[in-house]
Amino acid sequence: MSRVYNFSAGPAVLPEEVLREAADEMMDYRGCGMSVMEMSHRSKVYDNIIKEAEADLRELMNIPDNYKVLFLQGGASQQFAAIPMNLMKNRKAGYIVTGQWAKKAYQEAKMYGEAVELASSADETFSYIPDCSDLDIPEDLDYVYICENNTIYGTKFKELPNTKGKLLVADVSSCFLSEPVDVTKYGVIYGGVQKNIGPAGVVIVIIREDLITDDVLPGTPTMLKYKTQADADSLYNTPPCYGIYICGKVFKWIKNMGGLEAMKKHNEEKAKILYDFLDESKLFKGTVRKEDRSLMNVPFVTGDADLDAKFVAEAKAAGFENLKGHRSVGGMRASIYNAMPKEGVEALVAFMKKFEEENA
Ligand SMILES: *Cc1c(COP(=O)(O)O)cnc(C)c1O
Repeated sequence: MSRVYNFSAGPAVLPEEVLREAADEMMDYRGCGMSVMEMSHRSKVYDNIIKEAEADLRELMNIPDNYKVLFLQGGASQQFAAIPMNLMKNRKAGYIVTGQWAKKAYQEAKMYGEAVELASSADETFSYIPDCSDLDIPEDLDYVYICENNTIYGTKFKELPNTKGKLLVADVSSCFLSEPVDVTKYGVIYGGVQKNIGPAGVVIVIIREDLITDDVLPGTPTMLKYKTQADADSLYNTPPCYGIYICGKVFKWIKNMGGLEAMKKHNEEKAKILYDFLDESKLFKGTVRKEDRSLMNVPFVTGDADLDAKFVAEAKAAGFENLKGHRSVGGMRASIYNAMPKEGVEALVAFMKKFEEENA
């Protein structure tokens, strides 16, 4: 068996310990005589799996009792619609557009009401986070929406926007569990798990209880109503059982690593290795304003598309996979999520140094 260093933006690298444990339990989950894939979601055994996953997530993120945790399907993209359907009581919401995912959410919201663009960094190809300390926030907004870590462009909100008392809704798909978070600052935190937590097919929604009501937009499908899912503890219909089971294992892995404080330290160390090199390199350049750099997604370029392509091809041959930048940006992107070991980043930097010497 040989494993590569996988820098994919998502679905992405998972901890090897988790994969091994899942492999061990594949044929016979703890004496059940069947795989978790094969068991009823109404069984006692599965009930323990989903309850334990929720308890561990609550402990990791210090989620207060007045927030519900939902394990849903449909990916982060389905939440682009679910959020306005459930929360747009005045049919007016503010969006901070810092990249493609925020823009998609903003465009989706327009189908349900007035979506106001409160700020944008489109003018400089989303390479920075706009100043959100004193935005013009209309009085009748239902919520303010952000994409907290911009997976494609490699920026991250280091400070949450000043919403002036309005509800904050955040897509944290690509920074989920990468550092401690104060859940009380948000009305809704949600993310697809395939970036930092588990296999594609699960989206986790953490939502303040008072926001879960029957007062949703007309025509909201039963499945997209948070109340349906909350009342049934995410078991209204068959949930993505196996995915949730893997998420639960990753939660335990993070707990064993020391929790979110330790995760943050580990992620800062890894990112520093790569950013320090980009700052001193004569060939490679980071594309993002320094103070807004993501710890998770690191885009960089040589400035020459042919050389970029050569780098990606040679890196792949050397065991560094998925370094090609998003098709909308070009260049390269190294996603260095929680499960990417420090050695992976060190090896990548060593390879980049060698490439730079050979192509000087
Ligand atoms: C990947 C990603 C999405 C889309 O996730 P899907 O689960 O594929 O819908 C949305 N937002 C962010 C920030 C992402 O990184």
